Amino acid sequence: MRLFRRLPALVAAALLALAGLSAAPAQAREAGVTAAPAFKAPYPCGQRWTYSHHSAEVRRALDFVRSDGGATAGTPVLASAAGTATRYSQPSGAGNYIAIDHGGGWKTYYFHLSAYSVASGASVAQGQQIGVTGSTGASSGAHIHYEQLYNGVGQNIVINGAALSYPGSYNQAYLTSDNACGGSGYPFSTWGSGVNVRVDARVSASVVATLAGPTAVRVLCQKQGDTVNAEGYSNNWWSKLRDQNGFISNIYIDHPDQKLPGVPLC
Ligand SMILES: [Zn+2]
Repeated sequence: MRLFRRLPALVAAALLALAGLSAAPAQAREAGVTAAPAFKAPYPCGQRWTYSHHSAEVRRALDFVRSDGGATAGTPVLASAAGTATRYSQPSGAGNYIAIDHGGGWKTYYFHLSAYSVASGASVAQGQQIGVTGSTGASSGAHIHYEQLYNGVGQNIVINGAALSYPGSYNQAYLTSDNACGGSGYPFSTWGSGVNVRVDARVSASVVATLAGPTAVRVLCQKQGDTVNAEGYSNNWWSKLRDQNGFISNIYIDHPDQKLPGVPLC
């Protein structure tokens, strides 16, 4: 957890700006349309939702509600692809919403959230929870209003390489998510540099790996261990990382909560 996680980056950017340099990573830019990311459904693996399009929408949006017996309200909203998330609030319209910038001119929008799950400016992995499905703003019931935009223009929505249809009402077309199905664990990002991964949730436990910088990780489970005081935070929760096969303090998980929501106990 970290509340002011972006401050060092902002300070660094300001210093670079003063020096006449750019903090933006070098990226190859092609003329014309950049290939879209491999977008996945904006809700959890295995869930079946139905979708529809309102002709009055200003862009090529689709609205999604659950059709597998589960409650729509309260279901995690997942990033369709990796990128940088920004929070917005538009009480008279989109409500609480997240926009993810995927680079190359591509963005996705997720409207009417009951809660945000990431901070503005957070780097998110595909399948990472970014919010909670709700009905904030101009909405008559819980749903995910979802858009894919290229250079600010709404595009026909494509999931897993297949274009979705635009039915005028629900229960005509359905989409089962395979987002974040790939292997166990919950996707998060870390921050900080030189973060040690330890064999157990203790500061004296031996180091099994070191994360050089911000890293996309899969958290298998979490537990309480030694209290860590670092970066102005104090936290005794630790996450077990799938690929590194060890624990890091939750201080270095890029999420505002001390205990990660939805992640089981070890
Ligand atoms: Zn909508």
